[in-house]
Amino acid sequence: MDLKNQLEKVKKDIPSNVTLVAVSKTQAAGNILQVYQFGHKIFGENKVQELTQKASILPADIQWHFIGHLQSNKVRNLLPYVTLIHSVDSFKLLQVINYESLKINKITDCLLQFFIASETTKYGLDLSEAHAILISEIYKELKNVRIRGVMGMATFTDNTEQIRREFKELTSIFTKIKQGYFIDKEYFNEISMGMSDDYNIAIEEGSTIVRIGTAIFGSRIVP
Ligand SMILES: *Cc1c(COP(=O)(O)O)cnc(C)c1O
Repeated sequence: MDLKNQLEKVKKDIPSNVTLVAVSKTQAAGNILQVYQFGHKIFGENKVQELTQKASILPADIQWHFIGHLQSNKVRNLLPYVTLIHSVDSFKLLQVINYESLKINKITDCLLQFFIASETTKYGLDLSEAHAILISEIYKELKNVRIRGVMGMATFTDNTEQIRREFKELTSIFTKIKQGYFIDKEYFNEISMGMSDDYNIAIEEGSTIVRIGTAIFGSRIVP
């Protein structure tokens, strides 16, 4: 496995205005350190314990992104280490992130995760749930979270037209939310979409953050 070549190959495909999150879930700290030493500093994990363990032994200037389903009772442990939470999929979770961030005097950057796939197993909000959050008085009082944009996962399928349609939908959701609630907010500018098998389509459809694991690290050993 040639991590350097694989990283360079992926980076060649990604325009400079798109952020690459190297998804390091299940990968050994040694492999992450190698990729770090090739100059890459943004990594994504989907389990709190795994992220915090790795963060505590790997270089402090790594930016850790959380990309998995997040349980409220794990928020407190995650916050000291995390740069961006991609996966806010409920109002309750957003409120807990705010509450715990306030306690440590931090403003936590988050993305709202949307359900765009046809599978029923993927987490996420729909547009009406997002509207309900963003117009509420409770939301307006949340000073310790900053919503930076949206995130979504396409259906796991070979049908590229379906994948493209789903990414288009997420971009359209981003635009509606931007126009409705963040029109004068420069910081609301992120669309996190695209993984190893579909990041080229995602970039064509407006992605600003791609989350890529297998294409960099090779296939994962499923625990
Ligand atoms: C695992 C994972 C990825 C990366 O998947 P690859 O196919 O290995 O690139 C991206 N996003 C999320 C939310 C993931 O859980």
